[in-house]
Amino acid sequence: MVAMSSEASKTAYDVVIIGGAIMGSSTAWFLTENAEFDGSVLVIERDPSYTACSTAHTNSCIRQQFSTELNIRISQFGAAFVKNLRGYMGGDERVPEMGIQNYGYMYLADTEGFADALRAAQKVQLAAGAGTRLLTAAEIAAEHPFYATDDIVLGSINTVDEGYWDGGTVFDWFRRSARERGVEYIHGEVVSVTKSAAGDRITHVKLASGETIACGQVVNATGPRAARTAAMAGIDLPVEPRKRFTWIFKAERPLDRELPLTIDPSGVHFRQDGPDTYLAGCKPDPDPAVDPDDFAMDHGIWENHVWPIIASRIPQFEAIRVVTEWAGHYAYNTLDQNAILGAHDEVTNFHFLNGFSGHGLQQSPAMGRAMAEWLTYGEYRSLDLSPFHYGRVARGEPIIERAVI
Ligand SMILES: Cc1cc2nc3c(=O)[nH]c(=O)nc-3n(C[C@H](O)[C@H](O)[C@H](O)COP(=O)(O)OP(=O)(O)OC[C@H]3O[C@@H](n4cnc5c(N)ncnc54)[C@H](O)[C@@H]3O)c2cc1C
Repeated sequence: MVAMSSEASKTAYDVVIIGGAIMGSSTAWFLTENAEFDGSVLVIERDPSYTACSTAHTNSCIRQQFSTELNIRISQFGAAFVKNLRGYMGGDERVPEMGIQNYGYMYLADTEGFADALRAAQKVQLAAGAGTRLLTAAEIAAEHPFYATDDIVLGSINTVDEGYWDGGTVFDWFRRSARERGVEYIHGEVVSVTKSAAGDRITHVKLASGETIACGQVVNATGPRAARTAAMAGIDLPVEPRKRFTWIFKAERPLDRELPLTIDPSGVHFRQDGPDTYLAGCKPDPDPAVDPDDFAMDHGIWENHVWPIIASRIPQFEAIRVVTEWAGHYAYNTLDQNAILGAHDEVTNFHFLNGFSGHGLQQSPAMGRAMAEWLTYGEYRSLDLSPFHYGRVARGEPIIERAVI
């Protein structure tokens, strides 16, 4: 990959994207895909090593098991894009053929209330064309005999377009291809913005280096730092960095079949990782906003919380050992844990691409496509994502998506 310059080659761009990880790069790439967009695009990235961003700490899974149709449609496009990455990239033979490791997500309900929520979600998923199956405890035990199911009322699993995919490779190709097609990436941190005299537009962004760049449109793709970026424009955005832990572990007695991404009723989740490794994740309790540079692990959580839960759900995992662990940040939307998109009502060229919480990676193809359409036409042409617009934040009207991890 060509190194990033720390200075822009021009003083003004039609579109300035702040943040060049998967969302910023997907948007940049989809802009280059559209023959009707002929503007200039600058992506400004504060950390070209990408070591601190959410994209680098993700668990990289995709699912169709959402409770709202729009989130399902977004993931359907995500799956189609991943499975035909080379085709979307113009048949470029350097682009690898990609797939999804379809072990599915297994939601386990231990109460009738939770089971009813799974039943209701399945109806929405089936209507949208997903292949979700509901399983009784006996059926779960027959298909996956390693689970302890005594407390389980119902399970829900879908093994089509649901499981692991290589998000790093898709991110790499969004970025690489966008740059090859003329999008300029620079290494820099946006520290402030200048508004027009009427306050209704961003006219310039200013970098920590002191450089000032004029902009036609601005996209906030700054992940867990999104609220800081919005604040530069005088806008409140309910997005916080929230810590999420991941552990990769080995088992003394590995399972004889793939482990679905199991959503235990406790909220702890675990799945197959490599051929003989597994991945577990959970959130802290309490779950405060943290500094986006705080990556400290809480070692007590594994010992006292996660491992006991895994060992009681899968007794064969009584003897397991952690081989790697990390902490990353969700860009946690405190209103409803869903995407916040679109332009601001008053600062009309300031666009949101924020708040994806735990499902942004799989949404990156649909979100980048939508943002590129919005920037080009001022409307969505493929999938109407206007329900995700910032207006609902201002009105305090959450989207009720029950399947949030
Ligand atoms: C532990 C964990 C597990 C996850 N698992 C999944 C999963 O299985 N499936 C799924 O779909 N999603 C998952 N996610 C969520 C997903 O990873 C994120 O939603 C997605 O990566 C967000 O991408 P982004 O580009 O919006 O943000 P980021 O990747 O955080 O990128 C934001 C970029 O903006 C840059 N930036 C910030 N401020 C500035 C500034 N002022 N100037 C210039 N640049 C700036 C940053 O350096 C960064 O590169 C997970 C997240 C975590 C943390």
